[in-house]
Amino acid sequence: MIDNLEKLHEEVTGRLERCASEEEIEQIRIDYLGRKGGKLTALMRGLRELPADQRPRAGQELNRRRGEIEGLLETRLDDLRRNRGRPMDQGPRLDVTLPGNRVERGRVHPLTRVTDEIIDVFTGMGFEIARGPDVEDDYHNFEALNIPRDHPARDMQDTFFVSDDHVLRTHTSPVQIRIMEQRRPPLQIIAPGAVYRHDDDATHSPVFHQVEGFMVDHDISFGDLKGVLTLFLEQIFQDEVRVRFRPSFFPFTEPSAEVDIGCILCRGARDAGNCRVCRGSGWLEILGSGMIDPNVFGFVGYDAEAFSGFAFGMGVERIAMLKYGMDDIRLFFQNDIRFLRQFPP
Ligand SMILES: [Zn+2]
Repeated sequence: MIDNLEKLHEEVTGRLERCASEEEIEQIRIDYLGRKGGKLTALMRGLRELPADQRPRAGQELNRRRGEIEGLLETRLDDLRRNRGRPMDQGPRLDVTLPGNRVERGRVHPLTRVTDEIIDVFTGMGFEIARGPDVEDDYHNFEALNIPRDHPARDMQDTFFVSDDHVLRTHTSPVQIRIMEQRRPPLQIIAPGAVYRHDDDATHSPVFHQVEGFMVDHDISFGDLKGVLTLFLEQIFQDEVRVRFRPSFFPFTEPSAEVDIGCILCRGARDAGNCRVCRGSGWLEILGSGMIDPNVFGFVGYDAEAFSGFAFGMGVERIAMLKYGMDDIRLFFQNDIRFLRQFPP
């Protein structure tokens, strides 16, 4: 009888662990404590058949077990009621065999990717990276770069004015001035960043990105400029790219040169007249450059007799569009996922 009680207790404990509703608990109560057919009730009835000297001890034991089982049922019922209404109990039960959600990897934006490539090439040649403010004062954006008050580059159509004396920088060249004001040569620096101009069509965006670069020391020559920029273009277009230096004018360099590369689409073939990239010229303008104007050295207090240097600037979007064969600059800024997905992670 004692053994039977022990077995009953284990059965009840096992069933209670598995049960998930009040109805199931009620069923267990009926199965063990029910007046008719309850297993414990049946044992109590069996007391009468025991020899008189064993009855008191067996009766005590039965009552103790009965109390225990009632306690277990009560505790389990409390647990269920307390947990009811929690999220896990609402809706379908968790199915751990379902496949998980796929987590897609993000991608580096093509402009960031190209900027990083440009930075890699120049840091490989010993250039440092510098940055400057996006809101620039008139002096650093224009004056100290040898762009006087009446210069057309200051025209309202090109420049976003923040106040009479402050603009959204129209190029990254002011970083040149800020560095030269603080430091002495030798300097070998690139300055990547956003620039702003009042312009908006398929090949112009009101915000775009430039990388400015310059090198100043004793005896820096136009040959150094050609060497550095040719090596850069060969690395960035990963090809035996043809490079051409063409005389030009910028207020802050003298002499100045625009740098072209051979068209990466038609490669200057005879039927280049149909080429949509170079429009038949066989060449693509890729950056502006020149020897830093002695007037600029004057603004930052360098002795133009002792030092010389070159500077250059390029548009990151322009290089990215050529590298990826794109014909609309606006794609970079629309964040259309279909466009961004075309670049490998
Ligand atoms: Zn072409």
